[in-house]
Amino acid sequence: MKQKFIEADYKIVDFEKEADVYVVNTCTVTNMSDRKSRQIIRRVKEQNKDSILVVTGCYAQVAKEELETIEEIDIVLGNQEKKDIVTYVEEKQKEKIRKVSNILYERDFAEFGTTTYTDKTRAVIKIQDGCDRFCSYCIIPYARGRIRSRKKEEVIAEIKEIAKKGIKEVVITGIHLASYGKDYKPHIPLIELLKEVNKIEGINRIRLGSLEPTLMTKEFIEELVKLEKVCDHFHLSLQSGCNATLERMNRRYRIEEFEEGIQLIRRHYPNASLTTDVIVGFPGETEEEFKETYEFLERIKFYKMHVFKYSPRKGTKAAVMPNQIAGEIKEGRSRKLIELSNKNQEEQNENYIGKEVAVLFEELEEGYIKGHTSNYMMVYVKSNDKTIENTIQGVTITQAIGDNLVGEL
Ligand code: SF4
Repeated sequence: MKQKFIEADYKIVDFEKEADVYVVNTCTVTNMSDRKSRQIIRRVKEQNKDSILVVTGCYAQVAKEELETIEEIDIVLGNQEKKDIVTYVEEKQKEKIRKVSNILYERDFAEFGTTTYTDKTRAVIKIQDGCDRFCSYCIIPYARGRIRSRKKEEVIAEIKEIAKKGIKEVVITGIHLASYGKDYKPHIPLIELLKEVNKIEGINRIRLGSLEPTLMTKEFIEELVKLEKVCDHFHLSLQSGCNATLERMNRRYRIEEFEEGIQLIRRHYPNASLTTDVIVGFPGETEEEFKETYEFLERIKFYKMHVFKYSPRKGTKAAVMPNQIAGEIKEGRSRKLIELSNKNQEEQNENYIGKEVAVLFEELEEGYIKGHTSNYMMVYVKSNDKTIENTIQGVTITQAIGDNLVGEL
């Protein structure tokens, strides 16, 4: 959206500054995100009461009626309408605009806002939108709609352009990557797209965003390992290590299948970093169920775990399930898993001392240059040499400090 405004000759200023137009791009993943969005919305007009306030994003998509009641808002746009934001702002005279199409009927991938550059070396490319899985705690299928995949040719053409800019790493993302291509007849599997990306000259690394465990089949991994640019870092959203909890979450896999996938990855990628998301305190999660999850995670030894305390989201099945868990229990379970995650990370980092790794250097920072290995470990090297930025170099690891590794060229 920022890019659209720049193209139309608008000047982007800090959100806290006085402006003619304010855009609040909302999130709705928890009730808390809704509340935060409402607080920001109410504050905006204090900065300039004559400004135009546009509210868009997932909260706008699912709560149009709720936003109707907020007097300060001039324009409400759904996710599909974001691409025309400048036109809506310019059309706005005296009339308020409400344009939120029913995203559940959208069948085409919106060719808009598909790439973001995180730094000089890496571009994040969205290739898929929407989700048909309906996990019982998640609002995303209602906010993002049915699965829609970006055309393979469009993805390849864009990555070729990215490579021309000197970017060496692409991160392939989507709301539910495993569903890529399922909306096409015939079905275009994700692996077919990755094979094409692997051929693009100038791109050295392909990183995959969050993956559904069910994607990790023998066939998929055996094909994937042949693509030498694919990084050995896999983020697999587990959510729980207990089958009964997974069932209530409507996650549609069992921990046995998940573990098989992990073993396959480790067999083919001996240095793989495996990361995951876990929800603690899901409705009905007993001490016994949590213990199962804990023991499973102890065995799998993820490099890093993102731990979320379950927070009910209005409009989802889980929000009205019985046996909601008290805050202090969630807190305690979360603490235990974070401790386990830190321990695993420290152990893996220490194993790297004395080893040589390849680092794609990103930028200088206070006398050091930092970058990532292909398995996404952050490495710092003492240097002020700007010419190393955006190059891949061999580094010998000398120290492990907290989350990071330190080494020498
Ligand atoms: S697969 Fe992910 S995006 Fe889809 S419903 Fe489940 S948690 Fe939400």
